[in-house]
Amino acid sequence: MKRLAILTSGGDAPGMNAAIRAVTRCAIAQGWDVAGVRQGYLGLIGGDFLPLHARSVGGIIQQGGTMLGSARCPEFMTSDGQQQAVAQLRARGIESVVIIGGDGSQQGAAALSQAGVEVVGVASTIDNDLVGSDITIGVDTALNIALESIDRLKTTASSHQRAFLVEVMGRHCGYLALMAGIAGGAEVVAIPEVATTPEAVARELCAAYERGKAHAIVVVAEGAQHNAAALTAYFREHHSRIGFDLRITTLGHVQRGGQPTAYDRLLATRLGAYAVDLLARGEHGVLAGMRNGRPAATPFADIVGQRKALDVELIRLATVLAQ
Ligand code: ADP
Repeated sequence: MKRLAILTSGGDAPGMNAAIRAVTRCAIAQGWDVAGVRQGYLGLIGGDFLPLHARSVGGIIQQGGTMLGSARCPEFMTSDGQQQAVAQLRARGIESVVIIGGDGSQQGAAALSQAGVEVVGVASTIDNDLVGSDITIGVDTALNIALESIDRLKTTASSHQRAFLVEVMGRHCGYLALMAGIAGGAEVVAIPEVATTPEAVARELCAAYERGKAHAIVVVAEGAQHNAAALTAYFREHHSRIGFDLRITTLGHVQRGGQPTAYDRLLATRLGAYAVDLLARGEHGVLAGMRNGRPAATPFADIVGQRKALDVELIRLATVLAQ
């Protein structure tokens, strides 16, 4: 009987549970034996496994986070750590592993695959920065959470003629900020991919008021060149000249929490099922993601060291729509 392990790694994303459930139940349907690994690569190295049955993954599809826990594990970046992980799998007769996680976790998945384990990755990160998947598990939920805050801030901003800054996650990738800015109708979006200055942001906001807007919303990715703290400090320092200050709302980890949306549950379910299909066909060493609306496999070799670029057209559109 084939033995399969599942782990979730790196930043948690809403929908990871739905993926765990789909992988577990589809693998059981294939007649395989399934184990979960607690705390990602940390649990893999430490041998923290638990058996997963159809019932063990009941009641989790609607929950955010991950029932297996997640962790960051620097030790797994060393070949010693990777060999220990391989030894733990061999000791249990487990030949296949499904790794649900983001960019870093998939680099780890590639390393484990290189070490001779049958690995399939499942694209899961609220950053949406993974090459090989047009959209990743958790993005839709995070985006909806950001939008809810932006919509509420807009209401109060219009009543008081105040400018608000909303900081969303995205250390290297501005996808979430850009999409939240477009869908939330922000006046300015500041993202790591585009250089800007606090003065330019102030100019844009002043211009928005001059065009008759009652509110001014700036959406900033946490990794933007001038982050939320830098922008608010600038506005405070130049308050008398600019004429208004910038109130800051940092969404932080709130964006990761909460119930996954229907879209994320379905995406996670499809990708989890697809990961099992791939393994059943003897395909591994690949990331299971969505391309052009369909599940598609991309070899780890094609994704390692790459980061998905933002659509330049959408950056331009955000500016046009803010007028
Ligand atoms: P995410 O998967 O959300 O991008 P991280 O970048 O923190 O999160 O990566 C999660 C974990 O994946 C790391 O703590 C480490 O254990 C593993 N990992 C990341 N990069 C590599 C790498 N180049 N080689 C091996 N393992 C890695």
